[in-house]
Amino acid sequence: MKTYDSAALIGMFDRIATDIEAQKDHLCALDGVIGDADHGIAMALGFGAVRAALAELDPAGSSPTTVMNTAAKSFLNAVGASSGPLYGTAFMRGGAAVKGKAGLQADDIVSIFAAMAQGIQDRGKAEVGDKTMIDAWAPASQAITQAHAAGKSLADCLNEAAAAASAGAESTKDMIASKGRAARLGERARGHIDPGAASAVIVIEAMVAGLS
Ligand code: ADP
Ligand code: MG
Repeated sequence: MKTYDSAALIGMFDRIATDIEAQKDHLCALDGVIGDADHGIAMALGFGAVRAALAELDPAGSSPTTVMNTAAKSFLNAVGASSGPLYGTAFMRGGAAVKGKAGLQADDIVSIFAAMAQGIQDRGKAEVGDKTMIDAWAPASQAITQAHAAGKSLADCLNEAAAAASAGAESTKDMIASKGRAARLGERARGHIDPGAASAVIVIEAMVAGLS
């Protein structure tokens, strides 16, 4: 069975940073419609800081938990927008879920996903249907957990998570927002995808690609 070490996690974050950077303008444009147009900048700044901080770590001497905690701290410090504490908490919880482990297996990857989604939910108190990144993260977490419980391969579990995230993000188009800046817009937010849900798809797809 495949095992993921700290170097693999660092590679995964590197991939997220590259993919978010490539979509920075698109994410700002989405946020420009129902928010304050900074979401792409915030996410690119955050993952750029994560990449720089992880490049300083010695992968052989750092546990997966240390990698996740380093990511959490650098993301939180770099991002002043609401996504800062949300992803900061996600990475911290992901790290706590695999505490004491040096090599991660399928179970652990599933636990990291579920802990990240729960962390975002605990921190931001959003539910599915509130038109936030939770509309992508919660179904992704549910899909990967169910697929794993059904005995599917990690590759299949990851692909199901990505598909669920994408469908969840798409569903935000028809919603009005109850959390975040878009909540002030009422009906005017309807018809537009939530930027945080859109970036969650990029993050989740990059995690999937980085771990497959
Ligand atoms: P800000 O709104 O401070 O400018 P960003 O632009 O970085 O922050 O992020 C906006 C995104 O954050 C929204 O599209 C939404 O997905 C997400 N968001 C906002 N508030 C919450 C919350 N309470 N829970 C979960 N996600 C949230
Ligand atoms: Mg914003």
